[in-house]
Amino acid sequence: MGIIIAIDGPAGSGKSTTARLVADQLGYVYIDTGAMYRAVTLAAIRRGIAFTNRALGVLVKTINIQLEQSPNGQRTLLDGIDVSKEIRMPEITKHVSEVSASPEVREAMVHEQRRIGKKGGVVMDGRDIGTVVFPHADLKVFMTASIDIRAERRAEELQSKGIVTSASDIAIEIEERDNLDSNRATSPLIKAPDARILDTTSLSLQEQSDMIKNWAMEIINKTSNNKDI
Ligand code: C5P
Repeated sequence: MGIIIAIDGPAGSGKSTTARLVADQLGYVYIDTGAMYRAVTLAAIRRGIAFTNRALGVLVKTINIQLEQSPNGQRTLLDGIDVSKEIRMPEITKHVSEVSASPEVREAMVHEQRRIGKKGGVVMDGRDIGTVVFPHADLKVFMTASIDIRAERRAEELQSKGIVTSASDIAIEIEERDNLDSNRATSPLIKAPDARILDTTSLSLQEQSDMIKNWAMEIINKTSNNKDI
């Protein structure tokens, strides 16, 4: 058991690293929902499928995406094969927002995300977790940071994985993606009215995760006190 923590925000705001840390500290499961949309994009590209709602709708019914927890973090399996590395390639990042705008794709992914998270004890990050996937999540956080910082962080992360890129190129890519994600008709990236804003521009990873962990502990303690009464 445990509460549901929903973390949303634009690309590079520090969601995944922070969410993973919070989950580790609370003994919760961390779910990176972006990986699922990336896996659908990989499948579409491999099969040469057009990014239309109809074609993608057929595709999602024929593929199997699984998220597995491993000591090195979440592993993403596409039809039983580990694609955790492939889904981070620039080609996937470039097209993922087109694929994730498909209502059919979203419906299938949200269904799976709810199945995984409904029992609680999860930290789930994405774009629509607090608005669509779990609108009644116990704790909702909307993470933001300046575009420069977000681009720098993403560039460093990619460089550590051997992908050579510059912060200025990343800034362009991030802004394009945020634009598409924020302006799509279905489940756009938007702050839930009851989400707490966490601007991470000048925060360290430790500070960010401590903030969220403290908010979570307040809620967890309140919930258990109410049960005791
Ligand atoms: O989090 P990440 O940057 O890996 O997400 C990749 C893309 O997946 C986003 O740019 C967005 O288009 C899509 N996404 C989404 N809804 C989510 C998570 C990710 O639309 N809950």
